[in-house]
Amino acid sequence: MLKNDLFRKLPKVDQILDESVVKDELKNLPRKMVMTAVRRAIDNYRNLIIDGKVFEVKYNDILREVIYIIEGFKIRGLKKVINASGVVIHTNLGRSVLPKKAIDNIMNVAQNYTNLEYDLETGKRGLRYSHVEELIKKLTGAQSALVVNNNAAAVMLALNTICKDKEAVVSRGQLVEIGGSFRIPDVMTFSGASLVEVGTTNRTHLYDYERAINENTGVLLKVHTSNFKILGFTEDVALDELVKLSRKNLIPIMEDIGSGTLVDFSKYGFTYEPTVQRSIESGVDVVTFSGDKMLGGPQAGIIVGKSKYVDKMKQNQLTRALRVDKMTLSALEGTLMYYMNESKAIDNIPTLNMILSSSEKQKKRAQVLMKKIKDSTCKFECRIDNDYSLVGGGSMPTEKIPTYVVRVKNNQIEPETLETKLRKSEVPIIVRISNDEITMDLRTIFDKDFDIIAKSFKTIGDLLKI
Ligand SMILES: *Cc1c(COP(=O)(O)O)cnc(C)c1O
Repeated sequence: MLKNDLFRKLPKVDQILDESVVKDELKNLPRKMVMTAVRRAIDNYRNLIIDGKVFEVKYNDILREVIYIIEGFKIRGLKKVINASGVVIHTNLGRSVLPKKAIDNIMNVAQNYTNLEYDLETGKRGLRYSHVEELIKKLTGAQSALVVNNNAAAVMLALNTICKDKEAVVSRGQLVEIGGSFRIPDVMTFSGASLVEVGTTNRTHLYDYERAINENTGVLLKVHTSNFKILGFTEDVALDELVKLSRKNLIPIMEDIGSGTLVDFSKYGFTYEPTVQRSIESGVDVVTFSGDKMLGGPQAGIIVGKSKYVDKMKQNQLTRALRVDKMTLSALEGTLMYYMNESKAIDNIPTLNMILSSSEKQKKRAQVLMKKIKDSTCKFECRIDNDYSLVGGGSMPTEKIPTYVVRVKNNQIEPETLETKLRKSEVPIIVRISNDEITMDLRTIFDKDFDIIAKSFKTIGDLLKI
């Protein structure tokens, strides 16, 4: 058939809008959005004709395309997903889920006026950070504290304040890139500090630092290599040694510890992850860390250390640009309150709770989830298996936490197809595929989401007509 004849056979927009499946969509979606989908589907089909990829107009294909585009529109926007990946601090999935007190605090300050910058004692202007600062000081033992937008901002602000136009000495083994966009060398350039690399990738000695120090040295910087481990023939200078060197030369020492845990995980059988308290105790002048990694709070960058340096940062104009809003502050305060009692923190902060909960507990939960899936649909084969969870968020990269998973498959569907369907469910479910089976790790799934998962499998099973 000639292309022009095919064009004439393309349906009109109104005809498609009259279809019952499309009318159903119109009940819940703006008309404009549905119209856009219809026009786009017809245009796409026209392009297929132009490209010589179709030789007859199949009305139902166009209709399917309309629905497909509408489904695509629906999954836009920031929304809840179910993390069945087993990666606890999943940066792409928003890192930490907030504990209850943090959520209550957000609700409260969002709906009301607050004393954000108002001193209730004096009735005069107060300081935005004073509320949370006391708490951070108490928990970390630091003289002073400041909160900014994220840890990248914290590092930049700290370097800009104490090392602008000066040299920052850092080991080549610590020039890390985190999550594709945070690169220590780039952040330094922005801050106005110039980077002096010492040592080699696998070995850096104290004398490497000593040799690099001159009258223009602004800071000795230690970066926690949070998302990788160098194994084998390695040598790194201990923190205490670096502190001694910094004292001897009257040069401040700063540490970016990334994850920033306040809990010593080695007590619970994990590899030792440096704590903020330990760095402060060792005499590090400035320590920076994230609020939403191992701490389990909102996105934030926390700076703690000697007043001499932190107070100067508070005066830096950059601080204004990097400041956090009342909701972040209140969420951080709510999270930190739990840390006043370590066992409360572990019980109530989801990130800590997930990392530390036993695999036996996950096994029991896996049985419950599997039963729910089997009760709602008989179209899939399910089994419970051992596997490993990861901490994620560039923290404890080598730590494999024993866990239990539910594996699901149907021999008539490719696992990739099933994965896509789950991802595009009304509440998206993010899973892994291993051995051609859908793998769902109980460690990162909440009990309240079991029914949603079971229902999604039913919906997918029904649609696939298998
Ligand atoms: C994660 C991380 C950062 C970046 O922190 P954000 O809070 O994501 O900005 C910086 N340094 C280290 C060592 C990190 O692990």
